[in-house]
Amino acid sequence: MIYFDNMASTKVCEESLREQIRIDTEVYGNSTALSKFGADVEKEIVKARNKISQGLKVKSPEIIFTSGATESNNTFILGVAKKYNRLGNHIITQKTEHKSVLQTMKKLENEGFDVTYLDVNDKGMIDLNELKNNLKETTILVSIMHINNETGVIFPIEEITKITKEYNKEIKVFVDGVQSFGKLDLNLVTLGIDGYSFSGHKIHAPKGVGGLFIKSGVNIEPLIVGGGQQNNLRSGTLNTGGVVALATAFEIANKNVKENYENAKIIKKKFLELLDKIDGVEINGDFENSCAYTLNLSFKDLKGEVLLHALADEEIYISTGSSCNSKSDLGMLAHYGYENDRVLGSIRIGISRFSTIEEAEICIEKIEKLVPMLRRFKRR
Ligand code: PLP
Repeated sequence: MIYFDNMASTKVCEESLREQIRIDTEVYGNSTALSKFGADVEKEIVKARNKISQGLKVKSPEIIFTSGATESNNTFILGVAKKYNRLGNHIITQKTEHKSVLQTMKKLENEGFDVTYLDVNDKGMIDLNELKNNLKETTILVSIMHINNETGVIFPIEEITKITKEYNKEIKVFVDGVQSFGKLDLNLVTLGIDGYSFSGHKIHAPKGVGGLFIKSGVNIEPLIVGGGQQNNLRSGTLNTGGVVALATAFEIANKNVKENYENAKIIKKKFLELLDKIDGVEINGDFENSCAYTLNLSFKDLKGEVLLHALADEEIYISTGSSCNSKSDLGMLAHYGYENDRVLGSIRIGISRFSTIEEAEICIEKIEKLVPMLRRFKRR
């Protein structure tokens, strides 16, 4: 089989899996236990936290582990909103965030918060002037993702932080970093942000483990309370095997982050051959300003879902750009201002560091054969 759905989830790499097995079979105690065995577990957690903090160029205590990015996004956004509510109730985000951010914002709106959703243009980009114009005295948080999970569009985080902090340095800037973690050479200090979420299963670590950077000095109301683990910021016995597996996968991804990126870029460019081979193919989002791992294409007169199933029959896995169920929920690409046909005709190709050019060639060949056939079928 050929797997090009790596924005959704990835294969666990061997090193990560081996580490998880080692921890879960050899160092499986509870890190809070007073025994030496407990201390050994704690050491593994500290080592894992150090690997991640060093990779992100932040301080070790600024990293907490969670069950994944959905929890991290909820933790930071709700935690900051509750803690800084006395200073204001206004939050700025943008319309193409992941649902784990958008639904959290909806929850806050229901609780009386005032949320501004910035528009994006046909390239998937916000207008920085609009951000500037929407900042106000009551703004406490700006939450913008690093890389869009459907089109790969990269948001200018450094500029967003600069504009926000110039207006008022007390406003917190949060970044859903799921699609940049382990894929870009990151320095969270240079980005100037206050929070950054990440997830294991997007970078060849297991599902159900992720983390959150909370800049020192930023206070959050904890989402999960209990035994007071992780400085009371996220109670609950840590998934030590998962945490160590996550740090291992991140360390490996980060070691060759630039080479991996260049390799993904070559594969992504290869897929552009489809534009010459088939009529009516469009790139969704801004190709020049998008991450090398993600490509989103629309095929005129063809539903992305139909192509997805036809490819799945050949054991080639991609995903559709929009997970739309009804007209009122056309999916993320509708915010780019595209016609319904383009939105419904979209597919997403998710590349990983394990993807090969040969796999891309096979996938291109299949798409080239399938699209005219499926279009004929549709027109009948
Ligand atoms: N944010 C983005 C941009 C994502 O792509 C995803 C995963 O689809 C998430 C958040 C949620 O991550 P998790 O599956 O770890 O909860």
